[in-house]
Amino acid sequence: MIRLAIVVPCYNEQEVLPDTNKQLTGLIMELKAAKQITEDSFILYVDDGSRDDTWKIIDEFAKKESCVQGLKLAGNVGHQNALLAGLMTVKDEVDAAISIDADLQDDIAVMSDMVTKLEEGCDIVYGVRSARKTDTFFKRFTAESFYKLMKVMGAKSIYNHADYRLMSARAIDGLSQFKERNLFLRGIVPTIGYKSDCVYYERKERTAGESKYPLRKMLAFAFDGITSFSIKPMSYIMGIGVFLIICAVAFAIYAFHSYLTGNVVSGWTSIVLSLWFIGGLVLFSIGMVGQYIGKIYMEVKERPRYIVEARVGDSSYKRA
Ligand code: UDP
Ligand code: MG
Repeated sequence: MIRLAIVVPCYNEQEVLPDTNKQLTGLIMELKAAKQITEDSFILYVDDGSRDDTWKIIDEFAKKESCVQGLKLAGNVGHQNALLAGLMTVKDEVDAAISIDADLQDDIAVMSDMVTKLEEGCDIVYGVRSARKTDTFFKRFTAESFYKLMKVMGAKSIYNHADYRLMSARAIDGLSQFKERNLFLRGIVPTIGYKSDCVYYERKERTAGESKYPLRKMLAFAFDGITSFSIKPMSYIMGIGVFLIICAVAFAIYAFHSYLTGNVVSGWTSIVLSLWFIGGLVLFSIGMVGQYIGKIYMEVKERPRYIVEARVGDSSYKRA
């Protein structure tokens, strides 16, 4: 049996919280009855600086029910940071934690499978949407294009997985070693390592309240995801520069030929040639500078270079 925490970031969620709490406490009860989790497993609601009655509601739940805890952040720091705050809070108190959005669009029924997979030896279990029937075409299209773009840009991420996942205590410990400020958990978690697996479910519609991720925030989030994990855009710019320089050389041959055969306006050759060449050179140089900035960027993140999973054999020897 494991001690489990369900971590739920909440921002202005007064409309959905009563129902969410009913469902989650019900589920906790079921999991306890099935002897999958210990009696002292709990739900942690993280209030991300809400301006409505969210905290008041959480506070009441916590007073009424022993399996509910609350954490109030001093201000709104955004979904990713709120989630991290919750995970770091429970890190040393539980064997594993499942994170889920307050609107319960993700199917809570698969939590039991997540715990089973943990027992079978996985440290990270991703919740993956098998279908996106309930999402609007627009949301589906933008979201799926995003996952594909992430892949092209070379960032690790799990296709159609949002922040619904189970992490073991040691996986959360690994996460705590990532010191970066631009948090994109979906990208970081797969880089931690350990054995992982997926569970599949269908995503539901938001029952009440409205999405806290309007297009503007979604785009910012996607941009963050790519720029936090990849310095490939720089390489592409450099590539275009090289391409233009090659074009300039090819063009030079053509222009020189035209010059020799005499069918050009005077001055055309030199102008056109310098246009291509200088353009290519400028892009190449920007890309080159970008490569260095990219390296600095990767350095200042101070990511752990490795995370040790285990060591075997006698290591008790001490030098005198
Ligand atoms: N959220 C948060 N802080 C914010 C915005 C959102 O903690 O600044 C929480 C929100 O309460 C919800 C989760 O993040 O639990 C996901 O938000 P939402 O359901 O609005 O996103 P969507 O499902 O539309 O992508
Ligand atoms: Mg949602």
